[in-house]
Amino acid sequence: MTIQSSGRREERSRQAFDEAKKYIPGGVNSPVRAFKSVGLTPIYMDHGIGSRVFDIDGNSFIDYVGSWGPLIMGHAHPDVVQALQEAVVKGTSFGAPTLLETDMAKLVAQRVPSIDIVRMVNSGTEATMSAIRLARGYTHRNKILKFEGSYHGHADSLLIKAGSGVATLGLPDSPGVPDGVAVNTITVPYNDLASVQLAFEKFGEEIAGVIVEPIAGNMGVVPPAEGFLEGLRQVTTKYGSLLIFDEVMTGFRVHLNCAQGLYGVTPDLTCLGKVIGGGLPVGAYGGKREIMESMAPVGPIYQAGTLSGNPLAMTAGFTTLSLLTPEVYDRLEKLSARLQSGFESNAKEKGIACTINRVGSMVCPFFTEEKVINYDIAKKSDLNVFRSYFAALVEEGISVAPSQFEGMFVSGVHTEEDIDATIDAHRRALKTL
Ligand code: PMP
Repeated sequence: MTIQSSGRREERSRQAFDEAKKYIPGGVNSPVRAFKSVGLTPIYMDHGIGSRVFDIDGNSFIDYVGSWGPLIMGHAHPDVVQALQEAVVKGTSFGAPTLLETDMAKLVAQRVPSIDIVRMVNSGTEATMSAIRLARGYTHRNKILKFEGSYHGHADSLLIKAGSGVATLGLPDSPGVPDGVAVNTITVPYNDLASVQLAFEKFGEEIAGVIVEPIAGNMGVVPPAEGFLEGLRQVTTKYGSLLIFDEVMTGFRVHLNCAQGLYGVTPDLTCLGKVIGGGLPVGAYGGKREIMESMAPVGPIYQAGTLSGNPLAMTAGFTTLSLLTPEVYDRLEKLSARLQSGFESNAKEKGIACTINRVGSMVCPFFTEEKVINYDIAKKSDLNVFRSYFAALVEEGISVAPSQFEGMFVSGVHTEEDIDATIDAHRRALKTL
């Protein structure tokens, strides 16, 4: 199956980027979109349908970015489009409660083991930022513990040794984060329970909470080692700290009951985003009633939002979540396993050092033979090879994130033909390395 009919065109994307740079910092509203680390011109998208995206130069791509995770049922899913069309004519925002918000909260509470009640916000960043404030306010402690190479959004206290775009740009910390804030963030390597224990022995009584991606997705994909999440549960309980699962990426991505359902470990608080917004700006944080009711208006800890629980966002999110059945996750598993094994045989055939990490539909090839269990090892992936690989995939009509430190997302609307075409394209791409 040929994906691109002829050589890729990019004249319009080039012009668009030049124009955008006049009015937007770096031409983009989120740094990774600038393709800086891969040295290419960003591809300006025009539209998407199902598993495909189409750019403004008329090229089409099989898409594994899925808007960086949210689009688990593909682009412009007909049910989501129809629900949004019906919702939009009723008004876009009221700043007053709507029935949709309760429907959404009820569905999330039913599906996420740790969540009794949940508060909607507008992004993953807001969700983690609010959960951290809650953990601090609830425990009357200041320190938090996070893992190196994990990204939890761009709030000050979480932008310390962060992954994702920060890793890609090689910014270990960001200017503008005050030392007085950074000093309260303890970082230790992912999957390293011994370091967590040590941190607790030293600072245990001061640690408000541990925030963890139950499957790391911002240093590439790194699954939790056996016993890691259980160990975090034990140590936080012992010291009276809250365990916060940042499931912004993994929530409803890896399992109907999120990563906590997959691994059977229940945190105190859970942050959600991406999939629960169905492509509209949504985040959420929730947990035990007793803890969540420390938030205003019941309790004293403040957090608010003009557009929080927005009717369009709730509609897209609720419709997307309603499409997610156990069968969808079975299908995601089958398609993603097929993709992984195809990529593995291609790499073997070409003698290219490669390790593929995968949990469900989060798939990540690293260009190293070492087992990738944390950020230091993820960084050993050959980034020069990644750059050439990325460029070759683009020419083949395959869209993946322009970063080694991000996974591919398979959706429930990719077909076996899409997967096989991707494996063929991948084989040709590896030939160019
Ligand atoms: N947490 C995790 C695990 C994420 O992957 C992200 C975004 N990639 C965020 C938080 C921040 O979400 P947002 O970009 O919606 O602010």
